[in-house]
Amino acid sequence: MGISVAIDGPAGAGKSTIAKIIGEKFNLMYINTGSMYRAVALKAMNENITENNIDDLVKIVESLEMHFEEDRLFVNNEDLTDMINMPIISNNVSKYAAVPEIRKILVKLQQNIAKKFNVIMDGRDIGTVVLKDATFKFYLTASSEERAKRRYEELISKDIEVDYDTILKDIIRRDYIDTHREVSPLKKAEDAIEIDSNDLSINGVADKMVEYINSKIKND
Ligand code: C5P
Repeated sequence: MGISVAIDGPAGAGKSTIAKIIGEKFNLMYINTGSMYRAVALKAMNENITENNIDDLVKIVESLEMHFEEDRLFVNNEDLTDMINMPIISNNVSKYAAVPEIRKILVKLQQNIAKKFNVIMDGRDIGTVVLKDATFKFYLTASSEERAKRRYEELISKDIEVDYDTILKDIIRRDYIDTHREVSPLKKAEDAIEIDSNDLSINGVADKMVEYINSKIKND
């Protein structure tokens, strides 16, 4: 039987790192849905299209062929992974992600991928909207300070110049937009297992999930 895993949670909770580990362990295709929203934001910003210009945004989204190779996102055959993870995109992506017309197209795309492959998907609305029937649902949290610290260290290790306070502010602002938007706001699915990663290492979180998945597989 195929399995699907949904991981939701706020920015910087460690979703993508964990998703890669769990994906490898259970042989699942990893789909980072945040990258897809980031790619739309990048393309729109390159063409000076604001979040209010719905017609042009829809045209842009429809012109993008997106696929993943491992954890890298290719858009119209160009690897945009590094570019979409720059702070300028993080600062602007949530405005675009709040546009219902954009969400509708990307959600459909994500659901189509999940119909063809066994996936592990991370994002904000995976357990609540995209994969409502996912075999396993997790909701990953940590304090905003801890998440900002991790993001800071990640960017610094990639030689990207940033400061902690700016990242913390961005995370708090992004959380606010993501949890307050009208369409598919970030929230824990009722049937998701919540894991607070404040005092856990990446491997500690992954171990908890693996244990849970294995115990369910064994008992079913
Ligand atoms: O996961 P990541 O931080 O890369 O996501 C970037 C942004 O994309 C989020 O802050 C959110 O605004 C949006 N997003 C979303 N729904 C998803 C995934 C990401 O709205 N499923």
